[in-house]
Amino acid sequence: MTDSFHHYDVIVIGGGHAGTEAALASARAGARTLLLTHNIETIGAMSCNPAIGGIGKGHLVREIDALGGVMAKAADAAGIQWRRLNASKGPAVRATRCQADRGLYRAYIRRAVEAQPNLTIFQSAVDDLLIDDDRVRGALTNTGLRFEAPAVVLTAGTFLAGKIHVGDTQYAAGRMGDPPATTLAAKLRERPFVVDRLKTGTPPRIDGRTLDYSVMTEQPGDDPRPVFSFMGSRADHPRQVSCWITHTSERTHDIIRGALDRSPLYSGQIEGTGPRYCPSIEDKVVRFAEKDSHQIFVEPEGLGVSEIYPNGISTSLPFDVQLALVRSIRGFEQAHVTRAGYAIEYDFFDPRGLKDSLETRAVAGLFFAGQINGTTGYEEAAAQGLVAGVNAARLVQEKAAWSPRRDQAYIGVLIDDLITQGTIEPYRMFTSRAEYRLQLREDNADLRLTGVGRELGLVDDARWDAFARKRDAVTAETQRLGALWASPNNSIGRDTVATLGIELSRESSGLDLLRRPELDYAKLTSVAAFAPAVDDPAVAEQIEIEAKYSGYLERQREQIMLAQRNEGMQIPDGFDYDAVRGLSAEVRQKFERVRPQTVGQAQRIPGVTPAAISLLLVHLARAH
Ligand code: FAD
Repeated sequence: MTDSFHHYDVIVIGGGHAGTEAALASARAGARTLLLTHNIETIGAMSCNPAIGGIGKGHLVREIDALGGVMAKAADAAGIQWRRLNASKGPAVRATRCQADRGLYRAYIRRAVEAQPNLTIFQSAVDDLLIDDDRVRGALTNTGLRFEAPAVVLTAGTFLAGKIHVGDTQYAAGRMGDPPATTLAAKLRERPFVVDRLKTGTPPRIDGRTLDYSVMTEQPGDDPRPVFSFMGSRADHPRQVSCWITHTSERTHDIIRGALDRSPLYSGQIEGTGPRYCPSIEDKVVRFAEKDSHQIFVEPEGLGVSEIYPNGISTSLPFDVQLALVRSIRGFEQAHVTRAGYAIEYDFFDPRGLKDSLETRAVAGLFFAGQINGTTGYEEAAAQGLVAGVNAARLVQEKAAWSPRRDQAYIGVLIDDLITQGTIEPYRMFTSRAEYRLQLREDNADLRLTGVGRELGLVDDARWDAFARKRDAVTAETQRLGALWASPNNSIGRDTVATLGIELSRESSGLDLLRRPELDYAKLTSVAAFAPAVDDPAVAEQIEIEAKYSGYLERQREQIMLAQRNEGMQIPDGFDYDAVRGLSAEVRQKFERVRPQTVGQAQRIPGVTPAAISLLLVHLARAH
């Protein structure tokens, strides 16, 4: 008889954003799952900025939600200031962001993990993985406990050989206040993984009671407030507060310039590459030397706490310099710094060593997700966690792995970018990374993914019913408007012209009329002939966007169909590239390094020419 305390189907190591989504997805997909993490109190902890979403990242959150994940619901329960970014731009780039109460967010995630059937939590540090014959068998804790499972998901975040820098002080840590995973990192370096170092940083925190808000610009949340989860509502949101905006001064920049020789970034002490799009303040002052001021968002850390997060002054300068630079900022003259800013360097694994399921190629049954794959951000981590978790469960259940395509989800773009191109700096999501971004909108993430989420066992009945109602309402209303024709000499046309004051020179359906820039769904359905309007704004939004952008969307769907021919063409595991006649040594090496799973992936490898793809296609056609 197996001992159920020590034996599971899936073990997830790490209770951060990747680990919690992985554990929840694995358990929901039917696998007996163990979440092993350093500290139960830090499950769902946000290491840095207490905010969820933003451009590209908000898209990931909605996709995680559409697949039954927890992040959007936690954000709804914790969001204290909400914004709809790019609201006046096209629907592809509109994005939701919320400032979150750190404590409420963590509490929600912990409750979700504790309430999940099939999921057990155990607090312990993992010091090694059990691996036999290139196959994972489980995990070994620092107290010598052995937990066994045929699939393991590692999500150790910034903890692997984590090293904190504040000025010339450095010490080992997973993040400020948490121990590093030093033994595990050393053991993993003995395995066949390609390991390198990255770095990230965080600003000092400040007691908000010592700030002068009267000289800052208030930034209240948007009205109406956006909601993250497709199953959420504004009623889920806690009390709302404002954020504030201030700026660095010339004196701030002088202080920083005068202390660059004491910066671990510039002294060569930090070797890892940092996130280009989220630079430290010292980096900004050097790189944008012509600017005499940088914006700082003053963001509350929560409702019941006085600390604030000064977004924009991430730094690893010595503490005395941090204090001086903080106090040179408008409104911060009397600031009391509660925690020092710091940079952290950590080990990550070259993600080109992963399959699209996020299973490692080197060790069967071992999955990697989150920051350890070279990404940065809670959303990027959670998205990978969900995919790794469900695939770990499917591996154990002997089902085929699942990973979304690039035209299906930002999650697909994220994974494909990582496993095909690797990364030399912390990778974060942007809408510009997606070639089919008009299809990959926040508003239709459920229509893109909830069906497949249901098949994977990730979507519960309540979500499925709500989704099916919305999907059917969109179809019905599209058909209704498509079947109503207004012409210059019928009653619908006369009614439309009289109510809306528009010109009507030829016969047009309701959907044709919606394509007119001056019309929207609300205006159209104010015409008696096109009434009644649906009462769900999400259904109305869907119809309006699909109608307005139908030409572009159609063209993009055609491009996707063409691209899918190569995308669907599988390259067998262990394919012998030496047998492909005419391939240059350089391209052959690239193929062998990445080992693409499909011809589509092969053609996205940087430096792979169309000629090389033709040779590959000829060879594959011959082999079949
Ligand atoms: P984490 O959230 O780090 O979670 C890792 C989990 O694994 C933790 O629970 C840890 O206790 C556990 N663990 C680790 N090793 C072991 C072990 N051996 N045994 C058991 N448990 C273990 N992101 C941004 O988008 N923008 C930023 O500006 C930004 N700045 C950051 C600054 C700092 C200082 C830090 C630390 C992070 C920053 N991040 C930033 C990154 C963000 O925090 C991460 O992207 C995100 O938390 C990654 O999620 P994860 O689940 O991969 O790892």
